[in-house]
Amino acid sequence: MSSFRFILEPYRGKNSRFICPSCKRNYQFTRYIDTLKEAYISNEVGICNHKNSCGYHMSPKQYFRNKGSMQSYSAYLPSDVMSKPMKQKVDYIYPIILNKSMNPSFKNNFITYLKSIIDSEKVKHLVNLYNIGSYNRFGNSSTIFWQVDHSGKIRTGKIITYNSTSGRRIKKQYPPTNWVHSIMKPNNFNLKQCLFGEHLLHHYPNKPVAIVESEKTAIIAAAKLPNYLWLATGSINEFKPSKLNVLKGRRVVAFPDLGAYDYWLKNAALINFPIEISNYLEKNATTKQRDKGLDIADFL
Ligand SMILES: [Zn+2]
Repeated sequence: MSSFRFILEPYRGKNSRFICPSCKRNYQFTRYIDTLKEAYISNEVGICNHKNSCGYHMSPKQYFRNKGSMQSYSAYLPSDVMSKPMKQKVDYIYPIILNKSMNPSFKNNFITYLKSIIDSEKVKHLVNLYNIGSYNRFGNSSTIFWQVDHSGKIRTGKIITYNSTSGRRIKKQYPPTNWVHSIMKPNNFNLKQCLFGEHLLHHYPNKPVAIVESEKTAIIAAAKLPNYLWLATGSINEFKPSKLNVLKGRRVVAFPDLGAYDYWLKNAALINFPIEISNYLEKNATTKQRDKGLDIADFL
């Protein structure tokens, strides 16, 4: 049985969620569907949203192992569900969550680091401009890079922990990278990421836009080269048309990390407006710097 055949039903509003067979709460149970037969498996096959208080989960594999694979299906999906590309709604985070994370009394290693390399008034300005939040659970002094889109809606926040002296990421830590949406609503949050800093586009309608991979690089570059509006994709793979289309009509130059130049150049060709891909790093880096995959912030 291919694991792609059976999937949890994508969220299509309240009616695509059901009564949990264990805790009996309604609209909280996500059922598995058979994408080949376009049908629901039995109404006990699915996962409860209440992971901690209930924890019920029966996979198709468990079900067929117990009952045999010849079970008939309990219901078919509405005919248009599988044929049309699913138009998923996007879920957002409430602004109060972002506001709470901006409490200046929280510890934040990244902000401490920034203050060691950049004037502290400037740091304060950038923290507010880019919504750099703090997250102090698990004994960490972590940073939240909020993804706020061009219309001011909050898509999610990426949580990273840095060393306050070196400014490097601490990877041997639990959890290494986390997301606000997966802490808040692990099961049926429809995430659509946006560029980090995207909300600033209409604040600076005339500034040319510079794109980098990491949020940290965008912040440092914003302090050192303020003639550009610096935005971050968040990862090498997020440099893609669906995320960059919001920049149409702007002058855009991208600064890929060392080693990412070819990939970003290829992706830029798929976009229907021009994005300049800077080869500054590729041209100026030493072999040692290249091995480390340094980014533009390391050169500023
Ligand atoms: Zn339940």
